[in-house]
Amino acid sequence: MTTAPSAWATATTLTHGGRPTGAAVTVNPVVARTSTVVFDSMATLQASLDAHQAGQRPLLYGRKGTSTSHALEDVVARLEGAHACKLFGSGLAAIACTFLAFTRPGDHVLVIDTCYEPVRKLCAHYLAQRSVQVDYFSPNLSDLAHKIRPETRLIWVETPGSLVYEMCDLPALVRIARAHENEAGSIRVAVDNTWGSAMLYHPLALGADVSVIAGTKYLVGHSDAMLGCVSTSESAWPTLHGTVELLGHSISADDAYLALRGMRTLAVRLAHQAGSSLEIAKWLQQQALVYRVHTPMLPDDPGHALWKRDFVGGNGLLSIEFYAGVGMVDACAFCDALQIFGLGHSWGGYESLALPVHVAGARSLSRWEERGAVVRLHIGLEDTQDLQQDLLLGLSALADRLGQARPDS
Ligand SMILES: *Cc1c(COP(=O)(O)O)cnc(C)c1O
Repeated sequence: MTTAPSAWATATTLTHGGRPTGAAVTVNPVVARTSTVVFDSMATLQASLDAHQAGQRPLLYGRKGTSTSHALEDVVARLEGAHACKLFGSGLAAIACTFLAFTRPGDHVLVIDTCYEPVRKLCAHYLAQRSVQVDYFSPNLSDLAHKIRPETRLIWVETPGSLVYEMCDLPALVRIARAHENEAGSIRVAVDNTWGSAMLYHPLALGADVSVIAGTKYLVGHSDAMLGCVSTSESAWPTLHGTVELLGHSISADDAYLALRGMRTLAVRLAHQAGSSLEIAKWLQQQALVYRVHTPMLPDDPGHALWKRDFVGGNGLLSIEFYAGVGMVDACAFCDALQIFGLGHSWGGYESLALPVHVAGARSLSRWEERGAVVRLHIGLEDTQDLQQDLLLGLSALADRLGQARPDS
């Protein structure tokens, strides 16, 4: 469904994808706000209906998308190497619709233990009541093969994992899934690609059927809109698309415009934020109260080799694991002492954020209870020296609480 030449590299797609063409056009697509589309005759209306039936995207009705949302779909699908993309009002709505599309009562789903926590809630409080069984598997895949059942229809992956970024070998996972497919049907492999955000990681090229992105994070990139994207292979598309048609997901032209505008600078933002976050990660590794810094970008991270093999770059996320004995209350004091870092949910904007996170509550297969508190940082576009000075305020507050010497500034 995308129209740009296939030879375009990512940076060119980000710059030119979804732009109007013609003899004299605006640089950016117009914000096509509409519910109703009016036709000049019943024949024209019928032609649009027919085109829609045939799988095209004519202008038909606001819920089916506008020229603005279609432009955004094209850019995301192109970056994901997908057949096509559908847009949602949030990342979680995109995830929920993927689960609804590829499961029915009686099916079994396998979910990676390191998933975004609301996915666990969706499984426990929605799918289970509708007779979809859910099991969790380890990101190291040691238990995956023996957990696959004849009724398994969907494997949900997130790599790197939420909060502490454990890596999963997706090509190996896909090989295991394909080896277990049976007459009852195929096993769809769906990946939460929010960390990679369509630029750094290409799950469909590695064998997955579906890639989901919380566009709220890096695609929008400015913390001013919510967005979810589901991109699929050609064979998975009719099921996903049909479900979206039934459930009525749709986004506003304004939000599509904001996301497209944000994506024009995705490559430079990610490269800059990855550089800053690696610099800060290495600096944090030398600080007294820091037991471990989590990001697969660090050469000594257990997931680094896999990240180097399968990813083409990094981002602004990292998490600090303090020594055991530093509790949640201490981690909150660390955060309260920060002046530049904002305290808040989400990430992927241009600004730095910090948040204490409960890893133990977000894992059921690995034990985290007895370890030190974890603070997730998102490194924005600020000056790294300023960010380090800010983190020193937090580390000093922590040292004061624990009766230890303050770190040197
Ligand atoms: C934030 C996030 C989501 C959910 O996105 P929303 O737009 O906040 O609903 C899903 N997956 C991951 C990995 C996320 O970080």
